[in-house]
This record gives sequence, C-alpha cells and structure tokens, in this order.
Amino acid sequence: MNTSTPFLMTIGGQRVAAARTLAVVDPATGDPFVAVPECTPDQLDEAVAAAQRAFAGWAATPSDERRRRVEAFIDRVAASADELAPLITREQGKPLPKAKSEINSAVAFARGYAAVKLEPQVLRDTPTQRAELHRRPLGVVAGITAWNYPVLLAMWKIAPALLTGNTMVLKPSPFTPVATLRLGEIAQEFFPPGVLNVVCGGNDIGARLTQHPAVRKVAFTGSVATGKRIMGAAADTLKRLTLELGGNDAGIVLDDADPAAIAADLFWGKFANCGQVCAALKRLYVPRALHDAVCVEMAKVAAKVKVGRGTEEGVDIGPIQNKPQYERVREMVDEAIAQGARIVFRGDVPSGPGYFLPLTILADVTPQMRVVREEVFGPVLGVMAYDDVEEALRQANETEYGLGGSVWGTDIERATALAARLESGGAWVNQHPAMGPDIPFGGIKSSGIGVELGRMGLEEYTSVQVLNVKRPG
Ligand code: NAD
Repeated sequence: MNTSTPFLMTIGGQRVAAARTLAVVDPATGDPFVAVPECTPDQLDEAVAAAQRAFAGWAATPSDERRRRVEAFIDRVAASADELAPLITREQGKPLPKAKSEINSAVAFARGYAAVKLEPQVLRDTPTQRAELHRRPLGVVAGITAWNYPVLLAMWKIAPALLTGNTMVLKPSPFTPVATLRLGEIAQEFFPPGVLNVVCGGNDIGARLTQHPAVRKVAFTGSVATGKRIMGAAADTLKRLTLELGGNDAGIVLDDADPAAIAADLFWGKFANCGQVCAALKRLYVPRALHDAVCVEMAKVAAKVKVGRGTEEGVDIGPIQNKPQYERVREMVDEAIAQGARIVFRGDVPSGPGYFLPLTILADVTPQMRVVREEVFGPVLGVMAYDDVEEALRQANETEYGLGGSVWGTDIERATALAARLESGGAWVNQHPAMGPDIPFGGIKSSGIGVELGRMGLEEYTSVQVLNVKRPG
C-alpha cells in the first residue's frame, strides 16, 4: 500500500504529517484504503501547547464573534457533505445516504449548541451587594471519539468547546480518523491557529492526552472500560470530565401494545447503523401473550432490509466497522444459539470479504447469556418473554449500564409511569432512542458522567465564577 496520505493532522494551524502512518481499513472489503499520520508523543505535546497558546486570545474573543465563527464553520461542514459523506462511508461502512444524514444531524446538533447563550446570571442585587454568576472557559479540552459516528461525535465536542471559549485537541478513533482529519483542515479557515487541533493515533496517544497536565477537561465518547481509565488518568490534575459510555438499553413492551404498529420502530431502534449505536435498544422484554407476534412483525420488517456495501444503491445497513467487533458479536450470537436461543430471523449478507453480519433476531434468550448481560454492538436483538411486568422492570434495571430505556404501549400514562422507573439517563415512551439538540443526553451508573447537548451540555464546557461585589454603605 502507498503510505503517502492526503489526510494530515492539524496542529497549531499547520497541516502535519508524521514519521509513521496508520492504515485505515474499509470494513466493506477488509482491506486498507488509506494511510493517516500516527501522531508521536512529541507532536501530541505540541498540539496541546498550540491549544494552550491559542487559549488566551480565543477566550477573550467576544462570545458573539466566537458564535459567528463557529456558525460559519458549521455552515461549511454542511456545504461539505458531498465530500465528507463518502469518507464516512469508506471508513465507517454505513450507506452513503446514512453518512449524509450523519452530517445533517451533526450540523443540526452543532447549531443547537450555537443557539444557546450563557448570559451572566444575577444572583443578588441589593443596596449592599451584587453577586453574578459567570460561565468561564476551562482551557484546553481533549475530545476523544468512537468509531460509530465519527463526524457527529466530533461536532458534539467541537461546537460546545469552541463556543464557550475553550481550545481543543481532538483525537478520533484510529478506526475512523479520515473525515475528522478533514474537519480539522476545514476548520482552519474559521479559527485562529491552535484553537482546534486534530491529531490521529491509537489508544496510547489517547492515554497521553488524558494525562497531560495542561488539559483541563476530557470530553470522551467510547467504552466503559476506557472511560474508567480516563477517569483514573484525569484524577491527578482534577480534570473535568464528560464521559459518554456504552449502554445496554432495555425496551419493555406492555400488554396493550399493538405489535404491527410498533415493529418498525422497535426494529430500527436496534438495527440502525448496524446496531452500532450507544443508545440502541439492546434487550427487549415482551409479555408472553405478545411475544411471538412481536417477533413475527419485526421479522417482516427485517426481511425488507438490505445489508450490503455502503457505496451500493438501495443498501440500508452496512458492515460492522471493525474486525475485533465483528468477531466479538459473532461469538456472542454463536454462544447464545449453543445455549438454546432460537433464531426468529436471520438475514442475508453479501458474499465475499467485509465484516458483514446477518441481521439476527433471537427468541428464548435468558438473562445469563452474554447477548443479554453485555452490550451487543451489532445487528442482533435478543427478545425475552415475561409474565410479570414488575419482574421485567427488575431485569431491565439489573445492569451496570444506564444510558437509555423505553416502554411501549397504547396507554401513554401507564407507559410513562413505568418509564420513569427505568434506571437510565434517557427514558423513552414508544420510541428508542429519542434525542434533540435542545435535549440533554447522557448516561447514569456505568454509562457515563455528565451530559451532552442543550444548555446543560454547553455548561459542561465551562466553570462557574461568582463575581461578588460589596457596595459601599
Ligand atoms: P473505545 O473506548 O475502545 O475507544 C474510544 C476512543 O478512546 C478511541 O478514540 C480510542 O483510541 C480512545 N482510547 C482508547 N483507550 C484509551 C485510553 N486509555 N485513554 C484515552 N483514550 C483511549 O470505544 P470504541 O470501541 O471506539 O467505541 C464503542 C463504544 O463506545 C461502545 O461501548 C459504545 O456504546 C460507546 N459509545 C457511546 C456513546 C455515547 O454517547 N454514550 C456514543 C457512541 C459510542
């Protein structure tokens, strides 16, 4: 493979190569298609130093001017959809129209952040005292992202960090760095050098970034295991953290639900992005009387869905993004079947290479199986029949995770009351997941710390300063 690369890192406003490169694999073929620079420890330190140097000027830039620049950048990302979407398809695997939707969502979410103004708040205004609460930037923020939605996750971090006056060093997943490297280059038109730096490297570079004494906050999306490591690494210098981690979301169908009416939403709640969604529906509890009907209706939806290469017309779902994940999901399914799970639906996959897994709906799964206990980040849904809704709720909550959860039924009040008892950051009724630029999103328990999106998400990139003035007299 030719190791020269058109995709470079951005450090201090410069396009930067590295002594070594990393190969990026196309999951639809299993073959490397491009090489990207592998950041050295010295280059990482330089990126942090560049962000540190840029901080004072950017923090002092009036917030309306920062907003104007961030909005211009977002507009440019929107206008670059035809360039960025094929990169996402190639590195991540999702079909081209879905890659375009990812960019549209990234743009909409970033605009949502830009619409929020964090004005000072007057806490006290008396003849003797005036106390105001101000939101101040933190300094250098490290952004670290996963491989399922590279551009969306990057924009969820760039927009709030820069709007609030921070500077950033962003490190995408080594599995999907390409579109993010382009984002870094595009950004240079809109921001002073060093405000947004994008480096590329493996987990060791991520670890170095989270230990760096000059980094004041880590905004991370990825696995629970890495989140725990980052929390440890951040302890020494007391960095602020936003951790958006994994989930094992449960859905509970109630006995008044109409299987035909909810089947498509249940199906896509699980299988969108080939099941590689943190807040996907990952376990489904159904009343015994409705169990078979729900399975049959979901199988009807599944039968119309085409799995294939993201570049092909008419494909709805692409491959799994990487080989380790492909092997892991395949093993979990084989193990469940060996332990007695029944295949309700198993779809076709294209012949030839690529990390394609068939869409699979399994019945008769048990709480002991890994497909239930662990997060399945792939196109597999386990369905469990229940006799007592309280027992279903108990099982739904019996997990270390707490990202999202859903309840499905026609009596909305009853479904809402049950949803409120889910131990999860998002509790949804007749939908899964449900997100919006103005709605905070985050997990509880091991699914994370803090939230992204909305006013609360923006505030996480700031510290509170109380300006308290004693008045004479
Ligand atoms: P991962 O934790 O392996 O990697 C995520 C990122 O962390 C990568 O950029 C990686 O290089 C970096 N990294 C790895 N080790 C590190 C370390 N010690 N210090 C600093 N950085 C390090 O996760 P993944 O496999 O890329 O992503 C899949 C996981 O992400 C799933 O569990 C999924 O649920 C979760 N996820 C969560 C959300 C959310 O918003 N809650 C969204 C998408 C994905």
